[in-house]
Amino acid sequence: MAKKRILTGIRPTGRLHIGHLVGQIALTKSLQDEFDVFEMIADTQALTDNFHDPKKVHDHVLEVAIDVLAGGIDPEKSTIFVQSHIPAIPEMTVYFSNLVTIARLMRNPTVKTEIAQKKEVFGEGGVTFGFLGYPVSQAADITAFDADLVPAGDDQAPIIEQAREIVRKFNSIYGPTLKEPEHRMSAIPRLPGLDGNQKMGKSLGNGIFLADSLEEMSKKVMQGKTDPEKIHKDSPGNPDICTVFLYHSHFSGEAAPTIATECRKGERGCVQCKRELITHMDSFLAPLREKRDYFAARPDFVMDVLKEGTQKANAVANEVLERVRTNMHLRYFH
Ligand code: ATP
Ligand code: MG
Repeated sequence: MAKKRILTGIRPTGRLHIGHLVGQIALTKSLQDEFDVFEMIADTQALTDNFHDPKKVHDHVLEVAIDVLAGGIDPEKSTIFVQSHIPAIPEMTVYFSNLVTIARLMRNPTVKTEIAQKKEVFGEGGVTFGFLGYPVSQAADITAFDADLVPAGDDQAPIIEQAREIVRKFNSIYGPTLKEPEHRMSAIPRLPGLDGNQKMGKSLGNGIFLADSLEEMSKKVMQGKTDPEKIHKDSPGNPDICTVFLYHSHFSGEAAPTIATECRKGERGCVQCKRELITHMDSFLAPLREKRDYFAARPDFVMDVLKEGTQKANAVANEVLERVRTNMHLRYFH
């Protein structure tokens, strides 16, 4: 029996940060044997809010591919490909766009939050047609691969829900054609920024990147937000409102409960606490950094992986597109 499929994506708007690792890559990696994985570098989607800077998007395709490989997505098992080179996706996006109202797109909570964050990108004129419509294009990304499962962070829940609605509407009008995907979240579906922002994000300027050196990572951790009422190193603190402790709970394993107890009792200072976090995070990041260096030194190999992956992805998406065209009565010539 054919394996079930996964479609997941990363936008080449910057390098991979640890939110991607714990929110998406690690989960996808763990499913590589059970599923046929399609890991998409979403350059077309990246252009929706970076249309003014195509060079940035272009250059990050290679960077993100290196990061994805370092994160453990294995090209022997999984298909890593570039979105803009899959023509079935924009074609399906056009057909899907008839099935979605502008009001529904405006109500999408993730789109709403992102529009508010991107005021300086869109300027006085307001949000573009392309950005507002990215959930429609994402529905095409997912369905073009007959994906059963979409591993992604919690910010993607409303987008995947909208894709499911589009599938149901499409199938009800044109007959059973598309697969309805499911969203799968990791144990850490949203890693906040150490700056206290609810989400670590490439476009939010608070990323700790896989490509960061130990020194760069340390500097970011030392600037992390702690309990503002803990002024002296021996005053009691509240780990529940401390982002540095939140990171301890994710990266410091069994040491975390003792750290919380000591903090509450005023037995540890924030500087010591941050230094310990750096040690724990480095034991997680150092092997990945090494793998990153390995692939970064072999850009030709990485580009070959993308080229082959894109060819394979096109073969799959074109089959689905044929089904879509047939069921939409878009056949004129034989
Ligand atoms: P951008 O700010 O350009 O949108 P991003 O940091 O949000 O970049 P994406 O490429 O949009 O990154 O997201 C790729 C995947 O990583 C998605 O599945 C998303 O849900 C997940 N992800 C992104 N940030 C986090 C985070 N802080 N915690 C958990 N998962 C995340
Ligand atoms: Mg994003």
